[in-house]
Amino acid sequence: MPRDDQEIHLTHFFKGGIISGKTHKPPLRKGAFGIFPLSQRETNGVSLNSYSSALRTLKKIFSSANVESITFTGGEPLLAERFSELILFCRMKKASVSIITNGISDKPNQYKELVSLGVSIFTLPLHSYLSDVHDYMVRKKGALERVLNSIKTLQTLNASIIIDIVLTKINIGHLRQTIEYLQSLGINGIMLTRYNIGGEGLKHSNELIPSLEELKAGFSAANQAAKDLKMNITSNVCTPLCILNPNDYDTIPTFACAADIKRMPVTFDIKGNMRICNHSPRVIGNIFEEKLGKLLNNDYVRSWKEIKPEYCMNCEIYYDCNGGCRAASEQTGKGLSAPDPIIEHYLKNLNY
Ligand code: SF4
Ligand code: SF4
Repeated sequence: MPRDDQEIHLTHFFKGGIISGKTHKPPLRKGAFGIFPLSQRETNGVSLNSYSSALRTLKKIFSSANVESITFTGGEPLLAERFSELILFCRMKKASVSIITNGISDKPNQYKELVSLGVSIFTLPLHSYLSDVHDYMVRKKGALERVLNSIKTLQTLNASIIIDIVLTKINIGHLRQTIEYLQSLGINGIMLTRYNIGGEGLKHSNELIPSLEELKAGFSAANQAAKDLKMNITSNVCTPLCILNPNDYDTIPTFACAADIKRMPVTFDIKGNMRICNHSPRVIGNIFEEKLGKLLNNDYVRSWKEIKPEYCMNCEIYYDCNGGCRAASEQTGKGLSAPDPIIEHYLKNLNY
């Protein structure tokens, strides 16, 4: 489900080479990256959609790290105050910039400006070729039509486009048709995001999470489509290897969570609060209050590597999997000692 706030993913090499390696989305981002929320919301009367706050924190991050690339995401980053200027700042710092947008704003002139600033990749959602399904999933009538307009505009500008398909009970049954439809539009890059239990989506998990059979059938369909249509399809939210065996889907690269902050999508909000990744609800600390190196090495960050879920204790492939998405465990309130909650969903009667 969409979040209310906006985020900036940062791909960067911290000074001293602390950060390097791949993330759970390696085809899209080389090196490690972090995230930095902007927002149209207000907290305690203070707007979170603030150019000056965002710029101040970006400056702090750039002075603390060698930033390689940044991905702005949402919420909806295209609505951020003086968004182009934030991008210009990052580009002048020689960072590459990509944007994850809901594709709804569909403002050709804004896209033109962003492309001229050198935005390298635009990621947009297109969950189904059926407008009622896509619109229902993003909770906005007419959304598919607007995403299609955005895609057309971006294609005219020769921008690189990745389409994100979140796999739910509602759209997974016709995934092959959606992939074929995307190919007919001239799209070649697709990332499949399995529905992650957490946040707002907790309320809708039974309605939205496909059965294990549906999930496997969806991955098989996508795998076959990648082969037949010669498309670049990746799986981008880590699924426990005991749930989905990547060997069964040889054309779709899948990625495990690193559980190591050197290779995690480190997240900063516009006030400088840092989280280990964009799904984790827990703030590690604030970059204006503590040095980045200290934040990266605090007890909580280390616990991501040190705490092994009881359920995974005897697993021989633990270090390939790391218990799936444990930020999702945090979101469900179970913390790092629990494996990915998708396990409990699929394999009931667990004791951990
Ligand atoms: S590490 Fe845990 S979640 Fe991953 S495959 Fe092993 S038992 Fe399953
Ligand atoms: S905890 Fe989950 S969302 Fe965060 S980096 Fe790992 S797999 Fe990705």
